[in-house]
Order: sequence, then C-alpha cells, then structure tokens
Amino acid sequence: MKIEFPYETNQLSLEYSGRDETTSALKEVTVCFPKGTISILGGSSGSGKSTLLNCLFGLKRPTKGTIKYEGHDVTNWSNRQWAELRQNEVHLVTQQTVLFPYLTIWENLCFVISPRDKEQLEQAAHLLESMNLIQNKHRYPRELSIGGRQRIAIVRALLGDPNVVLADEPTSALDEENSRIVMDLFMHYAVKGTTFIVATHDPSVMTYGHHCLKLKDGEVVNEVS
Ligand code: ADP
Ligand code: MG
Repeated sequence: MKIEFPYETNQLSLEYSGRDETTSALKEVTVCFPKGTISILGGSSGSGKSTLLNCLFGLKRPTKGTIKYEGHDVTNWSNRQWAELRQNEVHLVTQQTVLFPYLTIWENLCFVISPRDKEQLEQAAHLLESMNLIQNKHRYPRELSIGGRQRIAIVRALLGDPNVVLADEPTSALDEENSRIVMDLFMHYAVKGTTFIVATHDPSVMTYGHHCLKLKDGEVVNEVS
C-alpha cells in the first residue's frame, strides 16, 4: 500500500533577518507527515516549531528548500492559492486564540459555516458537547477562561473535517482532563483521515503521537515513529 504524505518538506530553511543579526529558525528540515496520523513537533522554546507550522500554513516563506502539499510543490504559491488552501483544506490552531469579541461562542462558530449547511451546524453542536462546552454556547468569549477559548478554537479548526490540522501548543492552557478530551478527539478525527501536526511541550500529548520529531535550534535532532 502506498503511504500518503499530505505534507513533505525538503531541506526547508528559514532565516529571520534582523538589523544586526540573522537567526536561522529552520535549518534544512526534511520531513514527511503521514496521512491520518498525529505527528508531534517537540523541542524547547525557540527550537523552530511555530516557524515550521507557519511555513506549512503559508504564513512564512522559507528562505530555501521546498514544501509539498498532497504531492504539489506549494513553496512559491501565491497568497490567493494559500488562502484557498487555508479556507478549504488546512486549518491552524494558533497559540493566541482569535475569536470575535462581540459574537457569542455559537456565532463565532457559525461565522465559518454556511448557514444552510445543516451537517456542519450539527457537527459544531456535537463538538461543543464532546468538549463539555455546550452550556457556553450563548456566552461571549470574555466570559470563558483562556482554556475555554482555546477549546473553542479547536472546535472551529475541526469543523468541516479539514484534510490537515496544524496545532501550535493546543493544550497549553488546559488541565489534564481537557487535554485528554482534546487529544482523544484528534485521535478520533485522525482515524477518519485527518492529519494532525501538533507542536507541544506536554509529555501527555506526546504519548498520542504516531510519529514524534524533536527540533533543536531549527534542526530535526530526533525522529521516532
Ligand atoms: P518555538 O515555536 O519552537 O518556540 P519559534 O519558531 O517561535 O520557536 O522560533 C524559532 C527561532 O526564531 C527563535 O530563535 C526565535 O527567537 C526566532 N524568531 C521567531 N520569530 C521571529 C521573528 N518574527 N523575527 C526574528 N526572529 C524570530
Ligand atoms: Mg512556538
């Protein structure tokens, strides 16, 4: 059976040029992320995890090397092509949860769903229930804890069954029980075919990885499958 890799990078490098110095945030990173699995990006703060996720999401342009998405070289895609990919196929959970403050939790979720899409509306309600958040449906983001808002951002990222979910420290504000609920949900979606690439420091999250990569100063130093 052919193994599919929604994302592959080849010798991906990214340098941040400051006024006085240049930081090599990624150094020739060559990795493959297999379909329907959870890949973990580990490594200490500053090792390049967020930079790699941002490159895979088209928010940062690599200095060298290539990125393939579903076998297509997307390294030099236009902003419009990346925007389409982000809208339809790849979702990102960022470290800073971005929700509209004047919309309720339900309205925030509906914002990314077509009002006629009954299936996705049901999916949103179902996800809120699995996360024990359904009672907060009509509350505003400021009425939830940071962890509550982080879980809403995770619900939003799973809506529409994206092909890939990139998650940057998705459990950083969650207690053990909620981290477990989130990772069980990721596992459930991975079995259905979604590919997860998760940057984390959390050892309990790492146990869910089918594949773990450790970054150090922008390089892959360890890879365990
Ligand atoms: P991690 O997510 O693993 O903490 P990052 O990808 O955020 O690591 O950062 C990798 C390296 O790149 C660090 O040395 C960091 O200081 C540097 N860096 C990140 N973003 C910028 C930026 N916008 N400008 C300059 N340097 C940056
Ligand atoms: Mg980071």
